[in-house]
Amino acid sequence: MKNCIVSFCLIFVLILGIAFNIDTVDVQASNEKPVVVVIDPGHGGTGERNLGAQYNGFSEKELTMQVATAMKAELEKYDNVTVYLTRTTDTIVSLEQRAIFAQSVNADFMFSIHFNASLEHDFYGSEIWTSGFGNYYKKGAEFGQIISDDLESLGLYKKGVKTKLGQSGKDYYGIIRQSVAREIPCVIIEHAYLDHIYDLPLLRSANFMQTLGITDATAVAKYFHLSSKSTGADFSTFNVKSVSEPKSPLSKDLTEPDYCKAQVLSFDATSRNALVQMSTKDSQSPVIYFSYSYDGGNTFSLLQMWDRTKETQSFNILIPKGITNPQIVCRAYNNYELYTQSEPVNVPEYSN
Ligand SMILES: [Zn+2]
Repeated sequence: MKNCIVSFCLIFVLILGIAFNIDTVDVQASNEKPVVVVIDPGHGGTGERNLGAQYNGFSEKELTMQVATAMKAELEKYDNVTVYLTRTTDTIVSLEQRAIFAQSVNADFMFSIHFNASLEHDFYGSEIWTSGFGNYYKKGAEFGQIISDDLESLGLYKKGVKTKLGQSGKDYYGIIRQSVAREIPCVIIEHAYLDHIYDLPLLRSANFMQTLGITDATAVAKYFHLSSKSTGADFSTFNVKSVSEPKSPLSKDLTEPDYCKAQVLSFDATSRNALVQMSTKDSQSPVIYFSYSYDGGNTFSLLQMWDRTKETQSFNILIPKGITNPQIVCRAYNNYELYTQSEPVNVPEYSN
């Protein structure tokens, strides 16, 4: 019986100790200042200018809400993070109001959720816009690299991180400008193009908005080194690739790629393929797309993906029967969508 009492006491002390230790850990964890993330579902409300892009049955203001809601739910699985949305209903909220809200909750970062479309319906993939200024650029670009890579792994072509200044010399995009004015870093995540056939199959795939929300949240968790006791996810040692602060504000690239040259290496009469070698370089921005013409530049192919690690690549161009005098012209596009066009070249040993 005596032994029993001693054992009981030991166990009791042990339990107390464990309890005390757990308590200490919890107290330490809750003392750490939580990261405050504001997610901004772009657009909202009625009236044409509040809907965002509307193509192929998709409504941007609805998609942004679906992604933002999924992103919040996923991010809230992590410890030490507080998440807010700038709107939870389909209502008009001005860009200034969104930034004022972010400031009122002491946001560490504003993530503005969007989908894209282009005037000529020719671009596809994801792109990230951030401030052109100092530390705001650094933070936006460091996060932008993470989310760009993660969206690319879902199958969305990576257009990269971009900046644009307005005529006032401040950031062009209102949500970035309004956030930076309140000392809050901000990025616009343009996930995909609603008006391009390359992005549509993904956009239409099951639960894709949910997938995008989870992907965005995971990128935020990586950026802030978050971990989750409930899911076991742990990004506490995630390596964020450092981006340096620009010495002067970064505006958009206003110049086309430096050059674009095309050369026809051979023509195969059986398959009707012309093997073309194209060379291009842009000293400021990556070249990301190319297109080609076999009728001297009257009509061009859809934009193709250019391997941005190379300056010279070759590819086949199928020349349809009936073309009497084919001439090859190539275009190289940088990620600000400016292109340089090659001189037209003839196809050697061509027979119709
Ligand atoms: Zn938008």
